[in-house]
This record gives sequence, structure tokens and C-alpha cells, in this order.
Amino acid sequence: MKTRTPLIAGNWKMNKLMNEALAFAREFKPLAQEAVHVDIAVCAPFTCLAALRDEFRGTNIRLGAQNMFYERQGAFTGEISPAMLLDVGCSWVIIGHSERRELLGETDGDVARKTRLALETGLLPIVCVGETLAVREAGRAATHVRAQTEKGLAGLAPDDLRRVTVAYEPIWAIGTGRTATAADAQEICAAIRATIAGFAGPAAGDIRILYGGSVKSGNIAELLKTGDIDGALVGGASLGAAEFAEIVRLARV
Ligand code: PEP
Repeated sequence: MKTRTPLIAGNWKMNKLMNEALAFAREFKPLAQEAVHVDIAVCAPFTCLAALRDEFRGTNIRLGAQNMFYERQGAFTGEISPAMLLDVGCSWVIIGHSERRELLGETDGDVARKTRLALETGLLPIVCVGETLAVREAGRAATHVRAQTEKGLAGLAPDDLRRVTVAYEPIWAIGTGRTATAADAQEICAAIRATIAGFAGPAAGDIRILYGGSVKSGNIAELLKTGDIDGALVGGASLGAAEFAEIVRLARV
């Protein structure tokens, strides 16, 4: 029996203009209001955050961003600071998504700096790790993900670590319709928890580990029956209010 409250976080990526975001919020709010068994986050584009903050005020839906910079302020044209995200109403921030690692050259070192600063500032980081298909086929998935976890999180104090969520997202399962089996996802999530236990001891038992990669209402329940998966980071299936609400409804551990 897991004691960690499940977390369902939607990652809208670079989707939705303001009117679409507001339409989502108005449809999703009533559908999600009974979901007291689960924490809900919507990680939206920066441009929609202020409007969503107003729509979600007083509800059980928290707001998140999809990235932040690793400095507090200054001459960093085009970047966004954690204080700006807090100011606009964010509680959560996704860090080190594979699309940023692969397309924008984000490194494990960047992920570590961002995670540390998010915690110092008061944001809750969702730190993404995951292997490519080539790495999985070479039998190195667990080793790769353990190394990413260690480089991203080692050195954090246990009390800080407890505020971190790790999202295991195998890259070959993101946006492909191909989900890892619950057993495969569990194996890697257990390896992530064991890695954290190695440098942080019992705090590892309090950390939420999410699975991400083509999660939908049809597979969420099976994933959450496992011992170490505490929720999901949901991309495509978080764009529709009805489907995302159904995932939330079924998210019981
Ligand atoms: C993601 O990009 O975080 C993700 C899990 O996407 P999808 O659910 O579309 O595979």
C-alpha cells in the first residue's frame, strides 16, 4: 500500500493559444473538482499562465511551467526566472524534459542547477529522466537513468529532495503511442528510488516518481498498481479536458 499521494501533471508543450487554454480550464474545472485523492498540475505555455491562474483560483488544480532558467535574474535574454514563475502563480516546474535535452542541448549539469534553484525559490520541480530506444536496446536503460538521476539530484539535502518529483519518461514512448509495460516502467522507477536511497536514505521513500510516455485513461490504472509509480506526466492526453479528467479520476494508488 503506497502512502504517497498520486500526482497527475499535464504537459501541454507548445500547444494552445489563450482562448484554447481558457476553454480547457472551463471544461476541466468541474470535471476535476471531486478528485480529492490526487494532486493535479497543468504545465502550460508561459503565455497562458496568468489567465489560467485566474481560472484555477480556489480550485484543486495547480499551475506549472515547462522550463525555467538556472539564474535568479539578469542579462539572460529570452529566459524566465523561478521568481517570475512564482509571481504568475506557478507551483510546479518541469525540468530537463527530453525534448529540451535533445533539441536544445540541456545537460545534466543544467538540470542540477535548475533543480537546486527551483527548490531554493519555492517551486516544486518535476525532474525528467529517460533513455532513448538505442540505449534501451543495448540493455543500458537502468544504468542510464540511474546516472541521470544521480547527476540531477545528488547533493540535495533530504528535506529538499522530498519536494522533488522525478518523472521517468522513456524517450521512445513519448508521443509515439507506445507505452512501456507497467512491469518495465516499474523496474526503472524502482531503480530510480534505489539510486536516491543510495545518497539520501529514507527520504527516497517520500519522493514521488511519475511515469510519462503515451499515458492515457486506458493505461493509467495499470501503471499505478505498481509499487513505485506514483502518478504520471501526461503530454498529448492532457490537451483534452475530458480525457485528462478521466486520467485524474482513475489515478488511484
Ligand atoms: C511528455 O512529453 O511529457 C509526454 C509524456 O508526452 P506523451 O504523453 O504525449 O507521450
